[in-house]
Amino acid sequence: MGNSRCNVGLLCSCLMMVGLVLSGCADRAPKTDIGRETATASSDSESSKPLRVVATYSILGDWVRRIGGENIELTVLVGPEGDAHTYEPTPQDSVALAKADVVFENGLGFEVWLDRLYEASESKGKRIVVTDSIKPRQVVISESQTETDPHVWHLPANAILMANSIASAFETADPSRSSQYRSREQSYVKELNELDAWITKQINSIPNDRRKLVTTHDTFGYLADKYGLEVLSVLGSVSSDSSDPSAGQIAEIINRIRASKVPAIFAENILNPKLTNQVAQEAGVKIVPTLYTDALGPKGSPGEDYLSMMRFNITTMVEALR
Ligand SMILES: [Zn+2]
Repeated sequence: MGNSRCNVGLLCSCLMMVGLVLSGCADRAPKTDIGRETATASSDSESSKPLRVVATYSILGDWVRRIGGENIELTVLVGPEGDAHTYEPTPQDSVALAKADVVFENGLGFEVWLDRLYEASESKGKRIVVTDSIKPRQVVISESQTETDPHVWHLPANAILMANSIASAFETADPSRSSQYRSREQSYVKELNELDAWITKQINSIPNDRRKLVTTHDTFGYLADKYGLEVLSVLGSVSSDSSDPSAGQIAEIINRIRASKVPAIFAENILNPKLTNQVAQEAGVKIVPTLYTDALGPKGSPGEDYLSMMRFNITTMVEALR
């Protein structure tokens, strides 16, 4: 191969005899040569190279892994138990972004740190906002203030739309494997539809007047809207970034919890339960096992992937509220 590459180069230089053109020709010659000699092997190794992919948080990372399978090399920035609202990026995140072909993000104001990090990393990776086809809910914070609710993942119907967005992005970035991405998407969507049917049945088993979810921050809005649950949160915000409520605000929350006869208060895996514990204690309400809210649990836990996290959350809610 070395010889034939050299010959092509020589032939080239004889024909052209102009330095500038020669360098262009010499640049092309070895590639042509390799292409000729090892066409099949070369295109195989090129197409078997995994796509380098970044997903911003663990739940999204799970979907990306399910659909990308062995065709991708995935880095998740905010891992299990991590809080993406308040995340502080690391230098390794910047390295992962710089190498990425595709970057998946939730959007809707969830990853407030991403724009700056992406820019600083000089990444050329294609950014895909997986929530683009979802109509976001707006949360009224005060008379003059609303917030966009980023917690779309608590509804399997939304997960299906995001799985579709992920598969489409892979199809565009790596068209030769389109059928593999689409077939993984289809089998995952089937599981998501089964999950949806199961959730409907479970939540319907909670009496109407007990469908009340109290958590630390407003993370279950999409689920609540669909199933007629009433939600109340200690922080009163869709972001866990808001400062701790004042003594007066806590007193008001406790009054509302007592008045609405909430049977239980739920802690969240991404947040320190201290404040929620205090509210539960003062309101005289039991605090129940921690729910997986904005992140998966560690490997081996009941929240290690999206499907098991959802089943665990719903089972826990049903047992505490029924
Ligand atoms: Zn959140």
